[in-house]
Amino acid sequence: MTLEAVFFDVDGTIAETERGGHRVAYNSAFRELGYPVDWDPELYGELLAIMGGKERIRFYWSQHPELGALSDAQVEQIHDVKARYFRELVDQGGIELRVGVRRLLDELASRRIPISIASTITYEGLDALLRRSLGDDWQDRFQYLGIGDIVPRKKPDPGIYLWLLERHRVDARNVVTLEDTRAGLLASVGAGIPTLITPSDYTQDQDFSEAACVASSLGDPGEPAHWRLASGAEGSGLIDVEFLEKLVSR
Ligand SMILES: [Mg+2]
Repeated sequence: MTLEAVFFDVDGTIAETERGGHRVAYNSAFRELGYPVDWDPELYGELLAIMGGKERIRFYWSQHPELGALSDAQVEQIHDVKARYFRELVDQGGIELRVGVRRLLDELASRRIPISIASTITYEGLDALLRRSLGDDWQDRFQYLGIGDIVPRKKPDPGIYLWLLERHRVDARNVVTLEDTRAGLLASVGAGIPTLITPSDYTQDQDFSEAACVASSLGDPGEPAHWRLASGAEGSGLIDVEFLEKLVSR
C-alpha cells in the first residue's frame, strides 16, 4: 500500500488556535454584541467537547436559560463577529503553525501527495491563518477544503472524512489523518483512516488508544518529536513522508 492522501485537522493540529485564538475572539464578540458572557480558559476547555462554533454557542445558551433564547440569526451574528476578531488576532501574529507542520506540508507537496483539510473552521478563519503562514497562494497546496458546515454532522461523526474519501476516490487505508482530539480521532477512525495524533493544549489527557501513532509534535530538525505507535514501539525524530507511509502499510 502507498500513501495516497493526507488529511489535516486545523484547530490544535496545524496551529494552537483555541486558548489564545478562538476563545479570545468569542469573548470579544460577546462583549461587542452586549452578551454578558465570558469564557475563561478552563470553561472553554470543557466547551471544546462540543465540536463546531455555532453548536458550541447554542449549547452554552441551552445551559444558561437566564441569557434568554438565541435565534439562528443571532448565532450567525456572534459567529461572524467572532470570525472578524479571530482574523485580527491572527493578523497581529499571535498564532503560528505548530512545530513540523510547514516542513511536512512542503515534503508532501514535493512528493505530489494530495493534502486536504477537515475542520469546522470558517473559510475566513482558515484564510487568515494560512495566508499569513503559507502565503497568498496557500490554497494551491490543498486539494479539498472540508470546512465549515460542508457536512451537517460534526466530529466525532465520520461524515467529514467520508466526504473527503469520496472526493479523493482513495481507499481509507491508504490515507493518514492528522488530528489532536479524541473527537477527531473517532471521526477519522470511524471512516477507517489510520490516524496520527499530536495532542494540543487542551487535549493532553484525552484517550487516544485507537490512534495508529501519538506524537508530541511533527518534529523539526533540532526539535524532534517523541512518538509512540499502537504496537507500543517508541522513538523520536521527524514525522516525515516515510513515517506516514509506514502507518498505511502495516
Ligand atoms: Mg483539532
